[in-house]
Amino acid sequence: MKQSPRFLAAFGASIVLTIGSATAAVAGTGVGTGAAVDTAAPAAAVAPAATRTALARSGEAADRFGIDRSPARAAVERAIDPGDYQCGPTDLDAYVSALINGMSDEEYAFLVRHLEMLDIPTYDALLYGTTADPRYALRADYGTELTHTFRDVKRFWDIQSGDIQLMSMHGSIMGDAAAVSRVLQLPIPGFGFSPAVADARAKDIAAAVNSGMFDNGNNPLFTLNAFAFTAEGDPDPLVKGVPDKLIFGDGIVDALNAMGIGDVGPRAVMGHEFGHHVQFEDNLMDSPLTGPEATRRTELMADAFGTYFATHARGLSLNTKRVLQAEKTFFEVGDCAFDNDGHHGTPNQRLRSATWAAGIADSARPQGKILPSLTFADMFEDELPTLVAPDAS
Ligand SMILES: [Zn+2]
Repeated sequence: MKQSPRFLAAFGASIVLTIGSATAAVAGTGVGTGAAVDTAAPAAAVAPAATRTALARSGEAADRFGIDRSPARAAVERAIDPGDYQCGPTDLDAYVSALINGMSDEEYAFLVRHLEMLDIPTYDALLYGTTADPRYALRADYGTELTHTFRDVKRFWDIQSGDIQLMSMHGSIMGDAAAVSRVLQLPIPGFGFSPAVADARAKDIAAAVNSGMFDNGNNPLFTLNAFAFTAEGDPDPLVKGVPDKLIFGDGIVDALNAMGIGDVGPRAVMGHEFGHHVQFEDNLMDSPLTGPEATRRTELMADAFGTYFATHARGLSLNTKRVLQAEKTFFEVGDCAFDNDGHHGTPNQRLRSATWAAGIADSARPQGKILPSLTFADMFEDELPTLVAPDAS
């Protein structure tokens, strides 16, 4: 039975994640005192610390594959430890809160015991998804638009891109116990279960999903990310033979729609992710920078590549003001963990990078010469110190 809401309010009140009898403080402002105890929850209590560990491992796994960390994970993490973050709550926090709050007690208790569900569709699609498999086809409501955008962005940039596979990830894959078990056995942070344990957990997850829980697995929380992946340069046999991919989760599109930026948001996100493929092909990932500064550089550069494409007359030619508005909303989602290796840059730095790129695209009007990607990257490197300067305005 429900004794009190898990999320007392989206903002301004404490938000509480109940974990067995232990209570993890979650998001909002001024948290920590809430004590919603769901007595119906199974006794398999997971301490808040364990939850944080699970989420940290999720970040490690993303870094291991060189993919963007899920903004949903960041929101969940921010929810757990608001004191660690200087920004938020954001529109995404509110969305994630609503998703969690919308779960039944049974779903919620199950999720807490199977936090690995948050990453299963990601690594399933990353390692095993193919464009030929209908289970990874883009969902009908956004498939046509993003397929066209993908065609456009491949034409726009001067890189080898014919081998990049565009696909989706759907939470419904978790109804396939064999697929789930295969992922749970992967030697990556957060997984690595023995075959017997993986099979047992996978059976539970598949049974839950197939019984209709979590909207048959399609709760957006499980696929709230988009990312670019390449196995190029990775010696690990695990990824050998995996083609270059650009993967769009259903959940990220749902989130962008919910945040009121569904008109240009998905296409802008694709521009960013394809920007990572430009970086892979042009060998732009490496720099003398390390740690958070290195990640910030590549992420701000991807923002610049993406915005240049989205606003350029020969790219998507989207309304610049609208693109920047949408990006501003999305960037506010960005993490505020300035000492975190997955750091994308502050919302202001990201917006400055996007605004700078839109200006470059605008200066190419009306006929619209497209800069070579390496030229654009050089210009970005020159601009980077200004973009990240503390006093930049
Ligand atoms: Zn990125």
